[in-house]
Amino acid sequence: MTATIIDGKSIAEIVRADVAKRTAALKVKTGVTPGLAVVLVGADPASQVYVRNKHKQTLEVGMASFEHKLPDTTPEADLLALVAMLNARADVHGILVQLPLPKHIDSEKVLRAINPDKDVDGFHPVNVGRLSIGEPCLTPCTPSGCIILAKSAQPDLKGLDAVVIGRSTIVGKPVAQLLLREDCTVTIAHSRTRDLPSVVRRADLVIAAVGRPEMVKGDWLKPGAIVIDVGINRVPTADGKTKLVGDVAFQECLSVAGAITPVPGGVGPMTIACLLKNTLEATERSLGLTT
Ligand code: NDP
Repeated sequence: MTATIIDGKSIAEIVRADVAKRTAALKVKTGVTPGLAVVLVGADPASQVYVRNKHKQTLEVGMASFEHKLPDTTPEADLLALVAMLNARADVHGILVQLPLPKHIDSEKVLRAINPDKDVDGFHPVNVGRLSIGEPCLTPCTPSGCIILAKSAQPDLKGLDAVVIGRSTIVGKPVAQLLLREDCTVTIAHSRTRDLPSVVRRADLVIAAVGRPEMVKGDWLKPGAIVIDVGINRVPTADGKTKLVGDVAFQECLSVAGAITPVPGGVGPMTIACLLKNTLEATERSLGLTT
């Protein structure tokens, strides 16, 4: 068997095209342009790339993009004041503070200062709570992307045994909540899980969010399983360069899985697409067009 490769790049394009279409319709109907504010503190090179891509893709779907780049010496109070100002602005429907923040700033405090209705990252405790009790809410972007990719392989996930490897608040826990919403039977594995290979072998759907290069092996999988690889790990190559690999040993899993995401080109491209989807939904909700 050779698994279907789930093409995250083209699925993200489809999500963005849908967001662009709905954004254009919203503008015609209400005159409102969804606006996303992204705040970057400091000069972390990876964060700069993410923020540049977010800005570009926000404009491409017809939304307004407000970039706020602050020096890494910015006092916490100034950042909180900026968040308060963005909370109050009617033309800003989504606020994203790029992580990581410099060490002198309490990230939790800043994330909690964002109005939950504008929290397009879905990290505010109010949205975490709403997700866990099954209320409509803004859901974290990478986990939402994982669900879209899994459903591209099997549209109805109901009743599947799903194993999530990793229990972070950014990926593992929210993706497990989203799988519950899809009526999966969910197991969350982590570093203290006993006999991880046999836990994974039970799964019809595996979501790996660990940060360990190629940890999940081909013989850990149930034949035909859907495998969503969130991991992004940079490893050295024989020629002295580096390359990106996921948490799943892609080549050996290819002959066992039913469908699998590659790294890069799987989950990665979905994150910004889902951020734009959240910004549109936050705008619609602010206008009373949806619950
Ligand atoms: P964290 O480091 O916050 O969490 C890792 C999780 O993996 C923890 O719950 C940890 O368990 C678990 N873990 C570690 N070692 C093992 C092991 N040997 N066996 C089983 N479980 C283990 O990472 P994140 O959730 O933030 O990110 C995970 C990966 O996803 C990273 O590679 C990251 O780069 C990538 N990522 C990709 C994104 C994207 O594509 N857009 C977005 C976000 C992340 P414990 O809790 O017990 O310590």
